[in-house]
Amino acid sequence: GEMIRLDKLLSNMGIGSRNEMRVRLKQGGVSVNGTVVKSGKEKVDPQVDQILYNGIPVVYQKFVTLMLNKPAGVISATQDAMHQTVLDLLDEPYVNRNLFPVGRLDIDTVGLLILTNDGALSHEVLSPKKHVPKRYLAQINTLVTPEDVVAFESGITLDDGYMCKPAILDKIEPQSDGTCFVQVVLYEGKFHQVKRMFESLEKHVIYLKRIQMGGLELDPFLLEGQYRVLEDFEIELLK
Ligand code: URA
Repeated sequence: GEMIRLDKLLSNMGIGSRNEMRVRLKQGGVSVNGTVVKSGKEKVDPQVDQILYNGIPVVYQKFVTLMLNKPAGVISATQDAMHQTVLDLLDEPYVNRNLFPVGRLDIDTVGLLILTNDGALSHEVLSPKKHVPKRYLAQINTLVTPEDVVAFESGITLDDGYMCKPAILDKIEPQSDGTCFVQVVLYEGKFHQVKRMFESLEKHVIYLKRIQMGGLELDPFLLEGQYRVLEDFEIELLK
């Protein structure tokens, strides 16, 4: 299998920082296949080699998948010359694991964003054939009507002529200030889609938050900018 530096493996599996790993290695706290190894430079095959840290087996996880509550002002990309990216929000041990966002949210859109290093998972979630539903909470500048609901159901035509798949517009909650909260479910993901669907009805999205992908809801305990690891059963809910 793939060979990886021992200090990198240990820190990537969340045991501690690379520096902490080097210290513990020097002290003799790490063994590979029964032999104490003191140098973090030593390469190991995490799929094959039996690695013990303080006598406890190191469980190797090739992939890691996180749920992020994306804040406004950060870009859903791995690098950007101008702005902070979602990767800049991560702490050790997730900074060195080649994570990338599964799809994109606009810079001013907040809410559920999946980060993973599992390319097959990303493909599966984004595949147009699977049409995994995505649910958004939106605030609209004006009242949303039953006619708008019908328009979403029938398939809205965007400014460039693209005909959207039927979408759900529900949970309409008019506000006393004249704006309106709604929820939208899309089964596809075109550039700026929710905003452009409302623009075609001459209405403006003034706040947009993704709250669900497939069967997975944004964890209400995550503040904007916070993230957590997804459990295997939660990853299944995405598909
Ligand atoms: N639709 C949008 O307009 N923006 C997003 O970020 C997501 C969906």
